[in-house]
Amino acid sequence: MKCRKCGEKASINMRQHRMALCKDHFLEWIPEQTERFIKKYGMFARDEKILVAVSGGKDSLALWDILTRLGYEADGLYLGLGIDGGIEYSAESQRLTEEFARARNLKLHVIDIEKEYGHSIPVFSEISFRGKDKPCSVCGLTKRHEMNRIARDLGYDVLATGHNLDDEAAVLFGNTLQWSADYLLRQGPVLESKEGLARKVKPLCRFYEREMTAYSIMRGIEYIYEECPFAEGATQIFYKETLNQLESARPGVKLTFYLRFLEAKQSGDLFIQKDEKPPQLHPCERCGQPTSAPNLCSFCRMLEKADAS
Ligand code: SF4
Ligand code: ZN
Ligand code: ZN
Repeated sequence: MKCRKCGEKASINMRQHRMALCKDHFLEWIPEQTERFIKKYGMFARDEKILVAVSGGKDSLALWDILTRLGYEADGLYLGLGIDGGIEYSAESQRLTEEFARARNLKLHVIDIEKEYGHSIPVFSEISFRGKDKPCSVCGLTKRHEMNRIARDLGYDVLATGHNLDDEAAVLFGNTLQWSADYLLRQGPVLESKEGLARKVKPLCRFYEREMTAYSIMRGIEYIYEECPFAEGATQIFYKETLNQLESARPGVKLTFYLRFLEAKQSGDLFIQKDEKPPQLHPCERCGQPTSAPNLCSFCRMLEKADAS
């Protein structure tokens, strides 16, 4: 297999694009494409301040690396969730993230949930669900709340996450199986800002997971290989595996699935339409972030419950 650009030996073959590239050209191609997606979907402008949510995994560190290479002003936010799972998951991912930032002289904000709110994510979850459920819903709620809080308090225009195509296709697959109209209408590379909520963007949403792995390795990025111990057995992983089976029989099917969805949504052809008014948002009495609940947002209700227990 030869590189399409220079004819040298290729390092990666992307069957969905019918294109193979050598290491140097692949490492050029990824930021070029990212820049194209940033413009195409109107993610952010050159003069906007970007906060990248970094977890220590390959996707978010690769995203931070790419945005920096492209010359954007991008700082990192690491949330310490207090997850151990026998592999010191949080401690190790924090170490790798801090190391990444230090080596490149980048600004990293670190928020430790336990120090900030008195309990780690697994403990919050234990209190909320009495250990009956995985901590993922509490974790997701906390991450959304904290990312938005930091973006707002520190004056960032936009919040960028490292979701790749495999993540997005799996979410889309799940939402389609359930015909979750609300979620389908909200899914996309950009979630516009509204009353007190920062704009959210996913600049890597058109890259396959294997491309992000290849990019991270070729760039020498040290990332945490292990998944969060709670991720195991998650429905999303099952959807990813199912889509990978389809992909090996039909190269490109994942990308087409996602892109056709975005096109249909943009042209208004998606037959799910909602004309009711979106819920009215008002500031939470405790933290001031927008919520549709009567007094406290769901995060602050969780805190109250935990404080009372
Ligand atoms: Fe949080 Fe881990 Fe669940 Fe992801 S898998 S939402 S990091 S608890
Ligand atoms: Zn080449
Ligand atoms: Zn609140």
